[in-house]
Amino acid sequence: MKIRYFDNAATTKVKKEVMDKMFPYFIESYGNPSSLYTLGRTAKMGIEEARREVADLINCDKNEIYFTSGGTESDNTALKGIMYLNKNKGKHVITTKIEHHAILNSCKTLEENGFKVTYLNVDKDGIINLEELVNAITKDTVLISVMFANNEIGSVQPIQKIGEIAKEKGIIFHTDAVQACGNVKIDVKEMNIDMLSLSGHKIGAPKGIGALYVNKNIEFKNLIDGGYQERDKRAGTENVPGMIGLGEACKIAKDNMENHVNRLTELRDFYFSEVKNQIQNIKINGSLDHRLPGNSNISFKGVSGSELLMKLDERGICASAGSACSSGSSMPSHVLTAIGLTSEYAEGTLRVTFGDENTKEDVEYLVTSLADVIKEIRANS
Ligand SMILES: *Cc1c(COP(=O)(O)O)cnc(C)c1O
Repeated sequence: MKIRYFDNAATTKVKKEVMDKMFPYFIESYGNPSSLYTLGRTAKMGIEEARREVADLINCDKNEIYFTSGGTESDNTALKGIMYLNKNKGKHVITTKIEHHAILNSCKTLEENGFKVTYLNVDKDGIINLEELVNAITKDTVLISVMFANNEIGSVQPIQKIGEIAKEKGIIFHTDAVQACGNVKIDVKEMNIDMLSLSGHKIGAPKGIGALYVNKNIEFKNLIDGGYQERDKRAGTENVPGMIGLGEACKIAKDNMENHVNRLTELRDFYFSEVKNQIQNIKINGSLDHRLPGNSNISFKGVSGSELLMKLDERGICASAGSACSSGSSMPSHVLTAIGLTSEYAEGTLRVTFGDENTKEDVEYLVTSLADVIKEIRANS
Protein backbone atom coordinates (compact mmCIF):
# COMPACT_ATOMS: atom_id res chain seq x y z
CA MET A 1 0.00 0.00 0.00
CA LYS A 2 1.18 3.47 -0.83
CA ILE A 3 2.03 5.52 2.26
CA ARG A 4 0.71 9.09 2.25
CA TYR A 5 2.54 11.21 4.76
CA PHE A 6 0.67 14.16 6.28
CA ASP A 7 2.55 14.59 9.53
CA ASN A 8 5.26 17.06 8.58
CA ALA A 9 4.90 18.94 11.87
CA ALA A 10 5.99 15.76 13.67
CA THR A 11 8.99 15.20 11.44
CA THR A 12 9.99 15.43 7.79
CA LYS A 13 11.71 13.13 5.34
CA VAL A 14 15.38 14.04 4.90
CA LYS A 15 15.82 15.82 1.59
CA LYS A 16 17.92 14.11 -1.07
CA GLU A 17 20.20 17.15 -1.44
CA VAL A 18 20.72 17.16 2.32
CA MET A 19 21.69 13.45 2.32
CA ASP A 20 24.09 14.00 -0.56
CA LYS A 21 25.77 16.90 1.18
CA MET A 22 26.14 14.95 4.45
CA PHE A 23 27.42 11.69 2.99
CA PRO A 24 31.13 12.59 2.52
CA TYR A 25 31.35 13.73 6.14
CA PHE A 26 30.70 10.15 7.31
CA ILE A 27 33.32 8.39 5.22
CA GLU A 28 35.76 10.95 3.76
CA SER A 29 35.95 14.12 5.85
CA TYR A 30 35.34 12.20 9.06
CA GLY A 31 38.07 13.87 11.12
CA ASN A 32 37.40 15.40 14.51
CA PRO A 33 36.88 19.14 13.89
CA SER A 34 39.19 19.88 16.84
CA SER A 35 42.10 18.02 15.18
CA LEU A 36 44.70 20.19 13.55
CA TYR A 37 45.56 18.04 10.52
CA THR A 38 43.81 18.56 7.20
CA LEU A 39 41.14 15.88 7.74
CA GLY A 40 40.01 17.65 10.91
CA ARG A 41 40.22 21.10 9.40
CA THR A 42 38.04 20.05 6.44
CA ALA A 43 35.31 19.01 8.87
CA LYS A 44 35.74 22.27 10.77
CA MET A 45 35.40 24.27 7.54
CA GLY A 46 32.26 22.36 6.63
CA ILE A 47 30.75 23.22 10.01
CA GLU A 48 31.54 26.90 9.63
CA GLU A 49 29.95 27.01 6.18
CA ALA A 50 26.85 25.30 7.59
CA ARG A 51 26.76 27.79 10.46
CA ARG A 52 26.69 30.63 7.93
CA GLU A 53 23.82 28.98 6.04
CA VAL A 54 21.77 28.64 9.24
CA ALA A 55 22.53 32.28 10.09
CA ASP A 56 21.48 33.44 6.63
CA LEU A 57 18.01 31.91 7.03
CA ILE A 58 17.22 34.16 10.01
CA ASN A 59 19.53 37.09 9.19
CA CYS A 60 22.01 36.94 12.04
CA ASP A 61 25.77 36.76 12.29
CA LYS A 62 27.28 33.30 11.94
CA ASN A 63 28.90 33.63 15.36
CA GLU A 64 25.49 34.00 16.92
CA ILE A 65 24.57 30.41 16.00
CA TYR A 66 25.21 27.52 18.40
CA PHE A 67 24.55 24.01 17.16
CA THR A 68 22.62 21.78 19.58
CA SER A 69 21.02 18.32 19.53
CA GLY A 70 17.65 19.77 18.45
CA GLY A 71 14.77 22.04 19.31
CA THR A 72 14.40 20.61 22.80
CA GLU A 73 17.98 21.33 23.79
CA SER A 74 17.84 24.81 22.25
CA ASP A 75 14.70 25.61 24.26
CA ASN A 76 16.21 24.25 27.48
CA THR A 77 19.43 26.20 26.93
CA ALA A 78 17.56 29.43 26.24
CA LEU A 79 15.36 29.25 29.32
CA LYS A 80 17.75 27.77 31.87
CA GLY A 81 20.87 29.37 30.40
CA ILE A 82 19.37 32.84 30.78
CA MET A 83 17.50 32.41 34.06
CA TYR A 84 20.34 30.70 35.96
CA LEU A 85 22.83 33.33 34.83
CA ASN A 86 20.58 36.28 35.72
CA LYS A 87 19.07 34.96 38.95
CA ASN A 88 20.36 37.94 40.90
CA LYS A 89 18.70 40.38 38.49
CA GLY A 90 15.28 38.78 38.46
CA LYS A 91 13.47 35.49 38.65
CA HIS A 92 10.43 35.97 36.42
CA VAL A 93 9.76 34.40 33.01
CA ILE A 94 6.76 35.09 30.78
CA THR A 95 5.63 32.43 28.33
CA THR A 96 2.33 31.10 26.95
CA LYS A 97 -0.07 28.26 27.69
CA ILE A 98 0.41 26.75 24.23
CA GLU A 99 4.18 26.23 24.12
CA HIS A 100 5.82 22.96 23.19
CA HIS A 101 6.65 20.71 26.15
CA ALA A 102 10.33 21.56 25.69
CA ILE A 103 9.42 25.04 26.96
CA LEU A 104 6.64 24.10 29.39
CA ASN A 105 8.68 21.45 31.17
CA SER A 106 11.78 23.68 31.27
CA CYS A 107 9.54 26.24 32.97
CA LYS A 108 8.36 23.59 35.40
CA THR A 109 11.97 22.86 36.36
CA LEU A 110 12.61 26.58 36.78
CA GLU A 111 9.57 26.84 39.07
CA GLU A 112 10.88 23.94 41.15
CA ASN A 113 14.09 25.94 41.53
CA GLY A 114 12.47 29.10 42.84
CA PHE A 115 11.74 30.96 39.61
CA LYS A 116 8.31 32.39 38.79
CA VAL A 117 6.56 31.78 35.48
CA THR A 118 3.55 33.55 33.96
CA TYR A 119 1.67 31.57 31.31
CA LEU A 120 -0.19 33.90 28.95
CA ASN A 121 -3.64 32.96 27.65
CA VAL A 122 -4.47 32.76 23.97
CA ASP A 123 -7.72 33.66 22.21
CA LYS A 124 -9.88 31.17 20.27
CA ASP A 125 -7.50 31.52 17.31
CA GLY A 126 -4.50 30.65 19.49
CA ILE A 127 -2.99 34.14 19.53
CA ILE A 128 -1.74 35.96 22.65
CA ASN A 129 -3.05 39.33 23.78
CA LEU A 130 -0.32 41.99 23.76
CA GLU A 131 -1.97 43.99 26.51
CA GLU A 132 -1.93 40.94 28.75
CA LEU A 133 1.77 40.56 27.96
CA VAL A 134 2.53 44.16 28.89
CA ASN A 135 0.54 43.81 32.13
CA ALA A 136 2.42 40.64 33.05
CA ILE A 137 5.80 42.37 32.99
CA THR A 138 7.27 43.19 36.42
CA LYS A 139 10.60 44.59 37.62
CA ASP A 140 11.60 40.96 38.15
CA THR A 141 11.00 39.89 34.52
CA VAL A 142 14.17 38.72 32.80
CA LEU A 143 12.87 36.70 29.87
CA ILE A 144 9.89 36.50 27.52
CA SER A 145 9.61 33.22 25.59
CA VAL A 146 6.78 33.03 23.05
CA MET A 147 6.72 30.45 20.28
CA PHE A 148 6.78 31.82 16.73
CA ALA A 149 4.23 29.32 15.43
CA ASN A 150 2.31 26.58 17.20
CA ASN A 151 2.97 22.95 16.31
CA GLU A 152 -0.64 21.80 16.75
CA ILE A 153 -2.86 24.53 15.36
CA GLY A 154 -0.32 26.50 13.32
CA SER A 155 -1.14 29.90 14.81
CA VAL A 156 1.58 32.49 14.19
CA GLN A 157 2.16 35.02 16.99
CA PRO A 158 2.73 38.78 16.50
CA ILE A 159 6.47 38.27 16.97
CA GLN A 160 7.63 41.67 15.77
CA LYS A 161 5.31 43.44 18.24
CA ILE A 162 6.44 41.19 21.09
CA GLY A 163 10.03 42.03 20.14
CA GLU A 164 9.26 45.75 20.32
CA ILE A 165 7.71 45.40 23.76
CA ALA A 166 10.62 43.34 25.08
CA LYS A 167 13.18 45.77 23.67
CA GLU A 168 11.43 48.79 25.16
CA LYS A 169 11.38 47.15 28.59
CA GLY A 170 14.92 45.78 28.37
CA ILE A 171 13.77 42.17 28.61
CA ILE A 172 15.37 39.31 26.70
CA PHE A 173 13.08 37.83 24.02
CA HIS A 174 13.36 34.17 23.04
CA THR A 175 11.18 32.45 20.45
CA ASP A 176 10.76 28.75 19.68
CA ALA A 177 10.74 28.95 15.88
CA VAL A 178 11.03 25.21 15.25
CA GLN A 179 7.76 25.18 13.27
CA ALA A 180 8.16 28.62 11.71
CA CYS A 181 11.61 28.12 10.19
CA GLY A 182 11.36 27.72 6.44
CA ASN A 183 7.62 28.49 6.54
CA VAL A 184 7.63 32.14 7.58
CA LYS A 185 10.16 34.83 6.72
CA ILE A 186 12.27 35.40 9.84
CA ASP A 187 14.57 38.36 10.38
CA VAL A 188 15.86 38.41 13.96
CA LYS A 189 17.18 41.97 13.60
CA GLU A 190 14.00 43.46 12.20
CA MET A 191 11.90 41.49 14.70
CA ASN A 192 14.08 42.27 17.76
CA ILE A 193 14.50 38.59 18.56
CA ASP A 194 17.34 37.97 21.02
CA MET A 195 17.24 34.18 21.01
CA LEU A 196 15.67 31.66 18.65
CA SER A 197 15.39 27.85 18.61
CA LEU A 198 15.25 25.77 15.45
CA SER A 199 15.41 22.07 14.67
CA GLY A 200 16.74 20.06 11.73
CA HIS A 201 14.18 17.29 11.42
CA LYS A 202 11.26 19.66 10.91
CA ILE A 203 12.86 21.13 7.77
CA GLY A 204 14.34 18.20 5.86
CA ALA A 205 17.52 17.60 7.88
CA PRO A 206 18.01 14.63 10.24
CA LYS A 207 16.75 14.20 13.79
CA GLY A 208 19.16 15.08 16.57
CA ILE A 209 20.50 18.36 15.21
CA GLY A 210 19.29 21.87 15.90
CA ALA A 211 20.52 25.35 16.60
CA LEU A 212 20.11 28.19 19.03
CA TYR A 213 20.62 31.77 17.91
CA VAL A 214 21.77 34.11 20.67
CA ASN A 215 22.32 37.82 20.02
CA LYS A 216 26.01 38.57 20.55
CA ASN A 217 25.23 41.09 23.32
CA ILE A 218 23.53 38.45 25.43
CA GLU A 219 25.30 36.15 27.86
CA PHE A 220 23.96 32.73 28.76
CA LYS A 221 25.13 29.80 30.85
CA ASN A 222 25.99 26.55 29.09
CA LEU A 223 24.02 23.46 30.14
CA ILE A 224 26.58 20.81 29.20
CA ASP A 225 30.09 20.83 30.63
CA GLY A 226 33.01 19.30 28.81
CA GLY A 227 35.29 20.38 25.99
CA TYR A 228 35.42 23.77 24.34
CA GLN A 229 33.25 23.15 21.28
CA GLU A 230 30.74 25.77 20.07
CA ARG A 231 32.76 28.59 21.63
CA ASP A 232 32.59 26.95 25.08
CA LYS A 233 28.81 26.95 25.04
CA ARG A 234 27.99 23.42 23.98
CA ALA A 235 30.52 20.75 24.85
CA GLY A 236 30.79 17.44 23.04
CA THR A 237 32.38 16.38 19.76
CA GLU A 238 30.37 17.96 17.00
CA ASN A 239 27.66 16.10 15.09
CA VAL A 240 29.43 17.09 11.89
CA PRO A 241 27.13 15.40 9.32
CA GLY A 242 24.08 16.70 11.20
CA MET A 243 25.41 20.25 11.15
CA ILE A 244 26.22 19.97 7.44
CA GLY A 245 22.68 18.68 6.84
CA LEU A 246 21.06 21.45 8.83
CA GLY A 247 23.06 24.05 6.91
CA GLU A 248 21.95 22.61 3.58
CA ALA A 249 18.31 22.35 4.72
CA CYS A 250 18.40 26.03 5.78
CA LYS A 251 19.89 27.04 2.44
CA ILE A 252 17.16 25.15 0.56
CA ALA A 253 14.49 26.62 2.85
CA LYS A 254 15.74 30.14 2.14
CA ASP A 255 16.03 29.69 -1.62
CA ASN A 256 12.64 27.96 -2.00
CA MET A 257 10.58 29.74 0.61
CA GLU A 258 8.14 31.49 -1.71
CA ASN A 259 7.47 28.44 -3.85
CA HIS A 260 7.20 26.18 -0.79
CA VAL A 261 4.80 28.50 1.02
CA ASN A 262 2.58 28.97 -2.04
CA ARG A 263 2.34 25.23 -2.74
CA LEU A 264 1.54 24.30 0.85
CA THR A 265 -0.99 27.09 1.28
CA GLU A 266 -2.77 25.93 -1.86
CA LEU A 267 -2.89 22.29 -0.73
CA ARG A 268 -4.05 23.26 2.75
CA ASP A 269 -6.81 25.57 1.50
CA PHE A 270 -7.95 22.91 -0.98
CA TYR A 271 -8.11 20.43 1.92
CA PHE A 272 -10.13 22.85 4.07
CA SER A 273 -12.66 23.52 1.33
CA GLU A 274 -13.04 19.83 0.41
CA VAL A 275 -13.55 18.80 4.05
CA LYS A 276 -16.17 21.53 4.43
CA ASN A 277 -17.92 20.27 1.29
CA GLN A 278 -17.89 16.59 2.17
CA ILE A 279 -18.13 16.33 5.96
CA GLN A 280 -20.68 17.81 8.38
CA ASN A 281 -20.24 18.98 11.98
CA ILE A 282 -16.63 20.07 11.83
CA LYS A 283 -14.63 22.87 13.39
CA ILE A 284 -11.42 24.30 11.96
CA ASN A 285 -9.05 25.14 14.82
CA GLY A 286 -6.57 28.00 14.81
CA SER A 287 -6.37 31.29 12.97
CA LEU A 288 -7.12 31.40 9.25
CA ASP A 289 -5.17 34.63 8.74
CA HIS A 290 -2.11 34.04 10.92
CA ARG A 291 -1.29 30.44 10.23
CA LEU A 292 1.55 28.22 9.04
CA PRO A 293 1.10 27.39 5.35
CA GLY A 294 1.11 23.59 5.78
CA ASN A 295 -0.96 23.30 8.96
CA SER A 296 -4.53 22.12 9.24
CA ASN A 297 -6.28 21.15 12.44
CA ILE A 298 -9.91 20.07 12.28
CA SER A 299 -12.23 18.66 14.93
CA PHE A 300 -14.96 16.23 13.91
CA LYS A 301 -17.85 16.17 16.32
CA GLY A 302 -18.61 12.86 18.02
CA VAL A 303 -15.57 11.04 16.66
CA SER A 304 -12.77 9.34 18.60
CA GLY A 305 -9.40 10.66 17.47
CA SER A 306 -7.51 7.45 18.13
CA GLU A 307 -10.08 5.38 16.21
CA LEU A 308 -9.84 7.89 13.36
CA LEU A 309 -6.05 7.59 13.22
CA MET A 310 -6.21 3.78 13.25
CA LYS A 311 -8.67 3.65 10.38
CA LEU A 312 -6.68 6.18 8.37
CA ASP A 313 -3.51 4.17 8.99
CA GLU A 314 -5.28 1.14 7.44
CA ARG A 315 -5.53 3.25 4.30
CA GLY A 316 -1.87 4.28 4.34
CA ILE A 317 -2.48 7.74 5.81
CA CYS A 318 -0.12 9.18 8.43
CA ALA A 319 -1.61 12.05 10.43
CA SER A 320 -1.81 13.10 14.02
CA ALA A 321 -4.50 13.51 16.71
CA GLY A 322 -5.13 16.44 18.98
CA SER A 323 -5.19 14.57 22.21
CA ALA A 324 -2.54 13.01 24.36
CA CYS A 325 -3.69 9.54 25.30
CA SER A 326 -2.72 8.74 28.85
CA SER A 327 -3.73 5.47 30.48
CA GLY A 328 -6.60 4.79 28.13
CA SER A 329 -8.48 8.05 28.52
CA SER A 330 -7.91 10.64 25.83
CA MET A 331 -7.53 14.14 27.21
CA PRO A 332 -7.58 17.10 24.86
CA SER A 333 -4.13 18.62 24.43
CA HIS A 334 -3.12 21.71 26.41
CA VAL A 335 -3.33 23.72 23.19
CA LEU A 336 -6.92 22.69 22.36
CA THR A 337 -7.86 23.35 25.98
CA ALA A 338 -6.27 26.81 25.83
CA ILE A 339 -8.32 27.82 22.76
CA GLY A 340 -11.47 26.72 24.60
CA LEU A 341 -12.49 23.79 22.43
CA THR A 342 -15.30 21.77 24.02
CA SER A 343 -14.63 18.07 24.60
CA GLU A 344 -17.31 16.81 22.15
CA TYR A 345 -15.17 18.39 19.41
CA ALA A 346 -11.69 18.15 20.94
CA GLU A 347 -11.73 14.35 21.11
CA GLY A 348 -12.13 14.03 17.36
CA THR A 349 -9.30 16.31 16.34
CA LEU A 350 -7.07 15.57 13.37
CA ARG A 351 -3.88 17.47 12.58
CA VAL A 352 -2.85 17.17 8.96
CA THR A 353 0.42 18.92 8.10
CA PHE A 354 1.52 19.10 4.48
CA GLY A 355 5.02 18.89 3.06
CA ASP A 356 6.84 19.42 -0.22
CA GLU A 357 6.15 15.90 -1.41
CA ASN A 358 2.35 16.03 -1.06
CA THR A 359 0.25 16.40 -4.20
CA LYS A 360 -3.31 17.44 -4.91
CA GLU A 361 -4.10 13.81 -5.65
CA ASP A 362 -2.88 12.93 -2.12
CA VAL A 363 -5.31 15.46 -0.68
CA GLU A 364 -8.19 14.07 -2.74
CA TYR A 365 -7.39 10.57 -1.46
CA LEU A 366 -7.16 11.89 2.09
CA VAL A 367 -10.52 13.67 2.01
CA THR A 368 -12.32 10.73 0.38
CA SER A 369 -10.88 8.36 3.00
CA LEU A 370 -11.71 10.77 5.78
CA ALA A 371 -15.32 11.13 4.65
CA ASP A 372 -15.72 7.31 4.50
CA VAL A 373 -14.05 6.66 7.83
CA ILE A 374 -15.95 9.37 9.68
CA LYS A 375 -19.25 8.13 8.29
CA GLU A 376 -18.37 4.66 9.51
CA ILE A 377 -17.33 5.83 12.99
CA ARG A 378 -20.40 8.04 13.41
CA ALA A 379 -22.71 5.23 12.24
CA ASN A 380 -21.28 2.87 14.85
CA SER A 381 -21.45 5.21 17.80
C1 LIG B 1 9.43 19.54 17.33
C2 LIG B 1 9.39 20.75 18.17
C3 LIG B 1 10.32 20.96 19.22
C4 LIG B 1 11.35 19.93 19.60
O1 LIG B 1 12.36 19.79 18.63
P1 LIG B 1 13.24 18.44 18.63
O2 LIG B 1 14.30 18.73 17.61
O3 LIG B 1 12.34 17.34 18.24
O4 LIG B 1 13.81 18.30 20.00
C5 LIG B 1 10.23 22.12 19.94
N1 LIG B 1 9.30 23.05 19.66
C6 LIG B 1 8.40 22.89 18.68
C7 LIG B 1 7.42 23.97 18.41
C8 LIG B 1 8.41 21.74 17.90
O5 LIG B 1 7.50 21.58 16.94
